[in-house]
Amino acid sequence: MIYRSTNKKVSGKSFKEVLFEGLASDGGLYMPESFPVIGKDFIKELPNKSFNEIALEISKLFVDDIPEPELKKIIEDAFDPGAFGGSGDGFPTPLVKIGDKLYVEELWHGPTLAFKDFGARFMSRAMGYFLKQSGQKLKIIVATSGDTGSAVAAGFYNVPNIKVYILYPSGKVSDLQEKQLTTFGGNIMAIEVRGVFDDCQKLAKQILGDKELNGKGEFSSANSINFGRLLPQMFYYFFGYAKLVATGEILRRTQDDEGVIFSVPSGNFGNLTAGLMCKKIGLPIAKFIAATNINDVVPEYLHTGVYRPRISQKTMSNSMDVGNPSNFARMLDLYQNDAKMMAKDIVGISVNEEETTQTIKLVYEESGYLLDTHSAVAVKAALVLSEVEGRESGIEIPIISLSTAHPVKFKDAIEPMIEKKIEIPEKLKETMSKEKKSILIENNFEELKAILRKD
Ligand SMILES: *Cc1c(COP(=O)(O)O)cnc(C)c1O
Repeated sequence: MIYRSTNKKVSGKSFKEVLFEGLASDGGLYMPESFPVIGKDFIKELPNKSFNEIALEISKLFVDDIPEPELKKIIEDAFDPGAFGGSGDGFPTPLVKIGDKLYVEELWHGPTLAFKDFGARFMSRAMGYFLKQSGQKLKIIVATSGDTGSAVAAGFYNVPNIKVYILYPSGKVSDLQEKQLTTFGGNIMAIEVRGVFDDCQKLAKQILGDKELNGKGEFSSANSINFGRLLPQMFYYFFGYAKLVATGEILRRTQDDEGVIFSVPSGNFGNLTAGLMCKKIGLPIAKFIAATNINDVVPEYLHTGVYRPRISQKTMSNSMDVGNPSNFARMLDLYQNDAKMMAKDIVGISVNEEETTQTIKLVYEESGYLLDTHSAVAVKAALVLSEVEGRESGIEIPIISLSTAHPVKFKDAIEPMIEKKIEIPEKLKETMSKEKKSILIENNFEELKAILRKD
């Protein structure tokens, strides 16, 4: 598989190059030069396959510079059911029925209780593989306002030949987030900056651009636009579909299988882009719902054809507070800048704060199922669509709504809604009981540089 940039000035890159470069030198995002198409037999066989078997088949289509046995090892380590709180047979991404033809696929059983574990764990191990081959070492610097940093820290923890520096704003992340960033030790160094998130981001950029520290490209950013994070997010679309088929809900349909609708709670649209790639290679997905909170740049584009990036607004689903989604360039690329074509596959639905709260309450009261603030946005959007579609066409295609975080991560917002305490999972209790280890610095490049130079 050969990759090119969405800006078209860079092409002919291998998976390895794409993985380590992240962003292309022309400022674009990497995409495959062409998409393979999977056979109908593969789709038929899906319900008989394990998560890791599916992951390997999909990876092989996009990665040809890692030998299959090694790729298999990377997948088995990244998606070790043990790390995802599971046991025995199935990989723990449960598909839970919460309404008529409405399912939730839980993607938050990984170490940080959010779906970003999928991307971070695969990318880290793929990098680890190439570094072992070349005998090189890599330093990763990330600025975080909370969640991305913890997925990166957890994902890279103990991966040989990689050292991770996490910059976070002192006093500006939740207690839980801080513990998830600072209690690893080992190859993860947490640096607490007296400043705000933007200061951390600026410091990270300065390090990456510093001739003395990074003259030979020892540092990388592991940011969310990396194709190496997108690829593993394709796996659970296939697995979710397979599980749905196993319930019989899709099989009851006629010969021309209309497939499934995925509702995707979106911020930077990496998750949705991974889904679009699944459809592109042949997974029978009828439609996607681009579900956003009030930061509705993409739903607006789908309705009007005009893209109007803007400053984000703060909401309860704060991991989706994005005003200029980084993966939008990939979405445009997939649809050749044609808003009408994109709108055939994707329905944009924006959900406000009040609707989010009402959905959490309603679903909890009716089925006892507790959604987090992000997942509730997707479920609300799914309910809106099924009402409209059902009325208009009489067709009811099953919907899988992706659930991206455990509700406990947003318990301060959710507990008052349901007037109940959310039980803290064992995994989290353990993290909370560990001792914080971080280095406190001023918002000062020289001070940071001195620490990194010594390390
Ligand atoms: C990052 C995140 C999202 C948004 O995912 P994108 O791929 O950026 O669209 C949704 N929910 C949670 C909990 C997240 O952490």
